[in-house]
Amino acid sequence: MATSKAFRSAILHCQDDPAKVGFEQAIEYFEDGLLIVADGQIQAVGPASDLLPGLAADTELVEYPNGLIVPGFIDTHIHYPQTGMIAAYGEQLLDWLNNYTFPTERHFADKEHARGVAKVFLQELLRNGTTTALVFGTMHKESVDAFFEEAARSNLRMICGKVMMDRNAPDYLTDTPESSYADSKELIERWHGQGRALYAVTPRFAPTSSEAQLSEAGRLLQEYPDVYLHTHLSENKAEVEWVKALFPQCSGYLDVYDHFGLLRPRAVYAHGIHLEDAEFKRLAETDSAIAFCPTSNLFLGSGLFNLSKAEQYQVKVGLGTDVGAGTSFSLLQTMNEAYKTQQLQGRKLHPYKSLYLATLGGAQALHLEDKLGNLNPGKEADFVVLDYQATPLLDFRLQQAKDIEERLFVLSILGDDRAVKATYAAGECVHQRD
Ligand SMILES: [Zn+2]
Repeated sequence: MATSKAFRSAILHCQDDPAKVGFEQAIEYFEDGLLIVADGQIQAVGPASDLLPGLAADTELVEYPNGLIVPGFIDTHIHYPQTGMIAAYGEQLLDWLNNYTFPTERHFADKEHARGVAKVFLQELLRNGTTTALVFGTMHKESVDAFFEEAARSNLRMICGKVMMDRNAPDYLTDTPESSYADSKELIERWHGQGRALYAVTPRFAPTSSEAQLSEAGRLLQEYPDVYLHTHLSENKAEVEWVKALFPQCSGYLDVYDHFGLLRPRAVYAHGIHLEDAEFKRLAETDSAIAFCPTSNLFLGSGLFNLSKAEQYQVKVGLGTDVGAGTSFSLLQTMNEAYKTQQLQGRKLHPYKSLYLATLGGAQALHLEDKLGNLNPGKEADFVVLDYQATPLLDFRLQQAKDIEERLFVLSILGDDRAVKATYAAGECVHQRD
């Protein structure tokens, strides 16, 4: 039996969606808690007073007296190749793609370039407490190899895929239906289930794939039913109109994906800003999920995601940063902007719901709730230590906070990478702030 480690701190995690069971019932909180970890998995969690007496003599005890342990954050939509073009000025979606994104992604044909960006990207995720992400590569299969090779060094549970894109993009970035099928298949065989790596079939979005290519994406999902489908949906009004013009035989944007068999469990659609009610209904029926990306939706002027509608139709939702259109790697900052997008629609986004979206909700959207999302025994030991004293203002403000609900809300509004004291993946420290 491997030596176990125990972490003593305040501990907060979710057991369910607050929209389903109520706010207090959805969470579990230990003011003075203990988290016991061995073999990369969580062995026990509970009050320190209950668990300390039973600790094995050789257990290493780590104490975080001004900290809060929460599950590792889950980012359900992000583009690693866009790390170097975050904060690009002046465009909405379609011009932003042409003017910034495509020229940037061209360089990922060079695997060593891709590796360098992957290193920066993964470091940035861990600095922000994100331990799992659903990640776009580029159309080059080398981009995915470089990403998974780097993620394996820290034993991270990451999902990535090669972009499939055969039209409406520069020649230097397009593949063909046949090559995209063959390259994706090769990558699935090489990476899916290898260590903690998982593969996502990744057509960029409907406008950049021909019908033949979307058919090939559907074929891959039939051949490999437990891989992911990762793409974009109804982000921008001009984009929605373009899709309708490109696929006049379909009844709307979501129907295009439906037509090719891409609505299913483990299908994750980024954005879903301009969805009709019937589309929410269809997402729920097919157990497809939405990645809610508020910093990106504000930055590109795309619109406000209707979270209440998703709850009404019981569509699974996770939070996404969507870097490089998103403006922060921090899920805390993403919770902050999520709160504001709901305020603009007259809704109060409760801090427990925000935490749920960034952890267990993301795990459920990815069908990984048996492994990730909270700190229950048997789950993979991915967790974050947040620091109540990270900045002078945070320290001062939190001294006025009356309970954990208020402390969590303040952390989500004022916190960012500075509030992440340490990040653990499979029980090992993969980032230490100081
Ligand atoms: Zn995106």
